[in-house]
Amino acid sequence: MTYDRLVCANCASPVSEGRCPVCRANRERMQQESPLAGLNPMMLIALLAVLVAAVALLAHQTV
Ligand SMILES: [Zn+2]
Repeated sequence: MTYDRLVCANCASPVSEGRCPVCRANRERMQQESPLAGLNPMMLIALLAVLVAAVALLAHQTV
């Protein structure tokens, strides 16, 4: 999602210019919503646990 063309409801100027606190808050929030930022450590650990459980289940079934 690009925010270059997004217009602020508060100051009616492009959010990317950051002219008011609402713009700056929106800009910061959208910059933090990158795919890498969404992967927090807890989610990685949960994902790893699911993967280990799936492998264990698979190994158990084949034996
Ligand atoms: Zn604004």
